Amino acid sequence: MSEDLAEVATLISAWPFVAADWAGAGVVPFGEDVLHSPTQTVTSFTDDLATIADYMVEVMHERDGIGLAANQIGLPLRMFVHNMPRVAPPVIVNPRIIESSGTWEFSEGCLSMTVDGTHALLKRPKRLVVECLDVKGRPMRIEADEYLSRVFQHEIDHLDGVVYAERLTGDHRDRVFKLMRLAGVPVDKLDDLT
Ligand SMILES: [Zn+2]
Repeated sequence: MSEDLAEVATLISAWPFVAADWAGAGVVPFGEDVLHSPTQTVTSFTDDLATIADYMVEVMHERDGIGLAANQIGLPLRMFVHNMPRVAPPVIVNPRIIESSGTWEFSEGCLSMTVDGTHALLKRPKRLVVECLDVKGRPMRIEADEYLSRVFQHEIDHLDGVVYAERLTGDHRDRVFKLMRLAGVPVDKLDDLT
């Protein structure tokens, strides 16, 4: 972790509505309220916001993730980062899905899920059109297919307070929930979206 971590932790804990316990402490696990509540629209595009986004990218890479939502570091803001900067800007703010089509099955997991074996196949729309802002507040329209689309849907779910396990069905759901219960994850925090 960079030496700027302490500075970032201070920034995060100073945010007016932050879950301060998690400021700079890594990735928030399933069961913490900040992960199961909708995030707030970003209205201010300051250098602090860019610093926090950089920190999120660092945490994502350190944990070998493919995406990370702001509430996964304890900050309930509508912003996420992903690891495909060649196909879409790396920081996505205030995303809104305006179109989706098709169906695509893919295996999902989550940095907030620390229990082994909880990746699971999940069907979601294949293609998306998203309207959002970049970290400077500039509007963007992004068309995403398959893998990129999946990462966007997983992260936008986080920003709405939804985790992928809530969308699982059938045997996949039974298996993942059983593993979570055995590991002591408070699954009662997960709503049934199916
Ligand atoms: Zn996740």
